[in-house]
Amino acid sequence: MNIILLGPPGAGKGTQAKRLVERHGMRQLSTGDMLRAAVKAETPTGLRVKAVMEAGELVSDEIVSALISDELEAMGKDIGAIFDGYPRTAEQARSLDDILSAHGRKLDSVIELEVNEDALVERITGRFTCAKCGQGYHDKFERPKVEGVCDKCGSTEFKRRPDDNEETVRTRMAEYRAKTAPILPIYEARGIVSRVDGMADIDVVTAEIEKILGY
Ligand code: ADP
Ligand code: ADP
Ligand code: ZN
Repeated sequence: MNIILLGPPGAGKGTQAKRLVERHGMRQLSTGDMLRAAVKAETPTGLRVKAVMEAGELVSDEIVSALISDELEAMGKDIGAIFDGYPRTAEQARSLDDILSAHGRKLDSVIELEVNEDALVERITGRFTCAKCGQGYHDKFERPKVEGVCDKCGSTEFKRRPDDNEETVRTRMAEYRAKTAPILPIYEARGIVSRVDGMADIDVVTAEIEKILGY
């Protein structure tokens, strides 16, 4: 199974992707995570994209499509892919079609997380992750069970993204509206789009997605 989780920044794509990975053995392919890893490792790609990401603008289509292609290449054919934060432009949607067919895969489902934009700034400015295992948390909505300790790995170190500030979030939302939302009709025409209320509790959203995927 190959699916896309679509939605504006803070919609819950990463949170839901991680749950599908844990419960159903799928693989999360997050271009945001891949780009952040490249920035951290100071690879040539990382050095090129750092300022663009900090500004909340989109990185070039070529760069992200190459990352996705490499990742699929390295993945077992029978492992399901969850595309998180990709595709984000019509050009990336075209590339994804080509990349999938080159790997003998097809797109089964596009799940749009519908959210109220006013809630997104609060979600994003309260977001943090475990520095060791990457588990996602939120100051208000998803705190660790024991204060200051990661539920999953026990680490006591957490981090916040430099682009998770109100000003950058506004730019990211504008990018989503202008460039990403317009790709939905491409998938609607194929009859593979489902919508989920992303404002519901995290568990409820997961249950809805599982229902759509037939789990
Ligand atoms: P995205 O990957 O779409 O940018 P995340 O999954 O990182 O979004 O979620 C953004 C923040 O909101 C995280 O801190 C997460 O814990 C929190 N969050 C995710 N889904 C929900 C939800 N349904 N209700 C409340 N908070 C949520
Ligand atoms: P969000 O939590 O806002 O959905 P991501 O982690 O997916 O954020 O992306 C963070 C940043 O990385 C984006 O603002 C953008 O600069 C860059 N980025 C990630 N994925 C893509 C993509 N598919 N195309 C272009 N830029 C991307
Ligand atoms: Zn952890």
